[in-house]
Amino acid sequence: AKAAGRDTHRFYAEAMNAEAVAHLSTRSGLRRALERGEFLIHYQPQVSLETGAVTGAEALVRWNHPDKGMVPPGDFIPIAEDSGLIVPIGAWVLTEACRQAAQWHAQGLALSVAVNLSALQLQRSDLVRTVTGALSDSGLDPLLLELELTESMLIQNTDVVMDNLRRIKAMGVQVSIDDFGTGYSNLSYIGRLAVDKLKIDRGFVADLTRNHDSAKITAAVIQMAHSLNLTAVAEGVEDAETLEALRGLNCDFAQGYFLGRPGPAEAVERAARQVNPF
Ligand code: C2E
Ligand code: CA
Ligand code: CA
Ligand code: CA
Repeated sequence: AKAAGRDTHRFYAEAMNAEAVAHLSTRSGLRRALERGEFLIHYQPQVSLETGAVTGAEALVRWNHPDKGMVPPGDFIPIAEDSGLIVPIGAWVLTEACRQAAQWHAQGLALSVAVNLSALQLQRSDLVRTVTGALSDSGLDPLLLELELTESMLIQNTDVVMDNLRRIKAMGVQVSIDDFGTGYSNLSYIGRLAVDKLKIDRGFVADLTRNHDSAKITAAVIQMAHSLNLTAVAEGVEDAETLEALRGLNCDFAQGYFLGRPGPAEAVERAARQVNPF
């Protein structure tokens, strides 16, 4: 029994060690990826539910790993956050997304671009300088840039976070609350912060047509958004029925596999040029 206990112990120690090693190798891999330019951005179209037109796109980072191929953000963003590397990676995403949106604009497509921020970025006093730099380098109109924050990031209302938000808003940059409905239950901060959009979490949208509670929550969030003069965006629209239901609920914009998967910038361009009224 003693030997078995030792074996179990060794098994766990080795498993933990393997995880730590994997973590460390991802961390050094991320540093190398930044230097060698292994990151790229996929864009997912955002569609107006009023006109059916593509009005913008969300920038979603990918890691094109030399051995592993395309690594999804869920596999490396948490490690990038732990190690602080999310700050330079996030700055690269912001710069690249602004450059792409400015290029769309130069091609006659006034598409907005939405960029995800991590808590660490929002807490830094140099965020405004990074955003201003990305805008001035690209020449992008600030009104075409949108920053996506989550509820949990907004309730840590430290002076730096509040100051960053205020200055970002003053530039004319749009601010959205991502994954709305999954985080904090105290809604009082929304009015106080003067955000522009609520993105309804895909968890509610996905089973909207099958689950009565999800339908009720989605309807309530859309109504609340409108009564606060905010725009409502539904995430995770995977079929025509869900799209119809959202239009019936007066939701403003939608995103999801049914409307377009994340992909290269050219795919968004093609979709934006299509006249596709509902
Ligand atoms: P998110 O910001 O909520 O992004 C939406 C995620 O849902 C994306 O996953 C997208 O591909 C996926 N999605 C879109 N439509 C559908 C649909 O109809 N059905 C389903 N099942 N999924 C859909 P992705 O690209 O794997 O990104 C995952 C998360 O990684 C993002 O969630 C975001 O939190 C984070 N992320 C991505 N890019 C960045 C970045 O540049 N910086 C930071 N800090 N986080 C990022
Ligand atoms: Ca997002
Ligand atoms: Ca989301
Ligand atoms: Ca998310």
